Amino acid sequence: MNTLTSLIRSRFDPHSLNKEAALMAAGNGYAGIRATHEEDYTLQTRGMFCAGFYHRAGAQETTELVNLPDVVGMQIVINGEVFSLLSGTVLSLRRELHFASGELKRELIWLAPDGQRFAIESRRFLSARQLPCFAQRLSITPLSGPASVSIVTGIDATQTNAGRQHLDEMQVRVFDRRWLQGIYATQDGAHQLAITSHCQVSRAENVRFSAKNRRLMQHISASVERDATFTLEKISWIAVWLDGTGQGSDISKDGLEHLQGCVAQGYDALLEASVAAREMYWRRSRVKVSSRNPEDQQALDFALYQLFAMTPCHDARSSIAAKGLTGEGYKGHVFWDTEVFLLPFFLFTRPGVARQLLRYRWYNLAGAQEKAARSGYDGALFPWESARSGHEETPPFAAINIRTGVRQRVASALAEHHLVADIAWAVVQYYQVTHDGDFMTREGLDLLRETALFWLSRTTEANGRLELHDVIGPDEYTEHVNNNAFTNHMAHYNVAQALHYLRAWQACDAQFEARAEDFLTRLWLPQPDEQGVMAQDDSFMAKPAIDLTRYKAEAGTQAILHDYSRAEVNEMQILKQADVVMLAYLQPGTFTAAQLAANLAFYEPRTIHDSSLSKAIHGIVAARCGDAESSYRFWREGAQIDLGPDPHSCDDGIHAAATGAIWLGAVQGFAGLYVSDGELRLTPCLPEHWQAIDFPLVWQGQPLHFHITHDTVAVSADSRLPLTLWGKPVMVTGQHIFYRRDFCSSEPGSATTEGRA
Ligand code: BGC
Repeated sequence: MNTLTSLIRSRFDPHSLNKEAALMAAGNGYAGIRATHEEDYTLQTRGMFCAGFYHRAGAQETTELVNLPDVVGMQIVINGEVFSLLSGTVLSLRRELHFASGELKRELIWLAPDGQRFAIESRRFLSARQLPCFAQRLSITPLSGPASVSIVTGIDATQTNAGRQHLDEMQVRVFDRRWLQGIYATQDGAHQLAITSHCQVSRAENVRFSAKNRRLMQHISASVERDATFTLEKISWIAVWLDGTGQGSDISKDGLEHLQGCVAQGYDALLEASVAAREMYWRRSRVKVSSRNPEDQQALDFALYQLFAMTPCHDARSSIAAKGLTGEGYKGHVFWDTEVFLLPFFLFTRPGVARQLLRYRWYNLAGAQEKAARSGYDGALFPWESARSGHEETPPFAAINIRTGVRQRVASALAEHHLVADIAWAVVQYYQVTHDGDFMTREGLDLLRETALFWLSRTTEANGRLELHDVIGPDEYTEHVNNNAFTNHMAHYNVAQALHYLRAWQACDAQFEARAEDFLTRLWLPQPDEQGVMAQDDSFMAKPAIDLTRYKAEAGTQAILHDYSRAEVNEMQILKQADVVMLAYLQPGTFTAAQLAANLAFYEPRTIHDSSLSKAIHGIVAARCGDAESSYRFWREGAQIDLGPDPHSCDDGIHAAATGAIWLGAVQGFAGLYVSDGELRLTPCLPEHWQAIDFPLVWQGQPLHFHITHDTVAVSADSRLPLTLWGKPVMVTGQHIFYRRDFCSSEPGSATTEGRA
């Protein structure tokens, strides 16, 4: 239908330096390298991150994903002039990130202040075949006359996380006047890092090395004839040794040997191997759309590029950070974003990765049990923000009021407990989509039991029933409330599913069974009122509403907090993000079609969408209400969170959850796919802009393919596939086209299919 798109910038905009650095970052799940320019700019923040490489810089600090030493930077001096896009004149510029290959390329013609012209090209990628391998190539062609070129590049360990230094330099060396190596360890000694780099130049008159102030540098100079091209190929091997695995290993030798293998292959061969490794990913997951707006396909390709880049498929002890591996935002912590917004994509395309993401939680059960016990509860209370240890990492305080010096408390770690049920929801989804019994036996049942035990101990006896008091639902502008509808319904679901699966596996003891049954009977489940609207919590409906138009226009900026204190916001009907609407998304069966629409209509005007997790979910629920055009509007706005024109929208990293939601909106919104009671259901609702959507899927081990237009659904399946289409059960074997008119006609049971197999 169409070829893979790319992200192109043809203008240098100093305001967007950091946004572009995140949007165009290289990534392979093992490492992420921000797309900073080779040359320095004062406001440009460099960044390289490896999954799981966390450290806490001091007792008062928060654990963060360490911003590792930089290898991208190059000082380029031509004819004595320091190259910068801010000096001379940029005659042409094109910067392009190819989603298919993951290669970032910059081509430009520079008119230096002395009037000489130069063609400068740089390319780079992180290998998808050999994850620690990062390759760069720089070419300079003097176009007006001969030139002297000098480059300084190497391993720069002055890099910090906003000023906090996490690494000690253990060893810095140059082997055989060729191989630069820096070995570093986190200051607590837990993790080690060995960066080994090599520069190959087409011609060099002078090469020397220096090691000063945490910078290990190679200085190269050459004379280049007019129209001849000077090239520098820099290949780096970035090896992390987590949790003491480096102890007793010769990590220096390991780095050198691996790098030598890569250098022997060279940039082009390394790229070819990496592209081949990515091809399989695209084949198994790409969503193609025919849309009147070409940016729709680009948004989907961008999302899938980033999903690949952010997900540490190689390590079940790491998970996906809220900004992926593209920036320091949220300190690289893991939130519910992973289970609810990111895991579904993997579940339906690479279920093994989804299992691994759940295994991350399973490995961290001890931390969650410890937090539960410390808070006076049973079972597992997972940390609201998680890193490597499984302990709570949420900073106790956030922004400071600079007039009073008082810091704003972050209450999420104390009361945003719905995460526990969100993880259980993901466990059940995983099992329903895969039927992976091995997972249930090894990890799933533990997760279900421990999360359920938490809820059993979390209740309060009130009003003759069990209630959940003092919680924060997904809407973080409403804190410390009783009976948040989302939390109560999800907790009920968590316990019900735990009971179901523990019974099915005969792993249920009588005491758990009795407590769970009592909980399920007596937990208060908020219900929709006569208008179909479910109260967000006990106190919500009594609060005043205000006109949010102004703040909605600036969604994502938290502008409301400039005018009102958090305490004031808490006392009004103001939602940061989807809450009851989020429940409608995760548990559609809780509402009738009319109630879904009523809740969307009631809550959306009260929701600012200050969280990037909000718009796409409203879009999916709108599609389920049959409102394709509102759904499309939400989807596009969701896609614009990172890709839109705001020059600072993702300076400190892309919004991983919003990226996952681009896929969710297309497949679960417009294609209308969802799983209910272990069945695959599809109720497509394409927007007018789209003629077709086409995507692969894996369902219970079977690869499927869907091609959906406004009038038809074409499905291919290798073996028998029961499916509920527009509410009616059908059976697919081989390839079938279903016609919408047959399902949506007034004649019941008139569904017909046309075999193509
Ligand atoms: C949202 C949370 C989300 C977190 C990380 C917050 O602004 O309110 O729901 O988990 O960002 O993305």
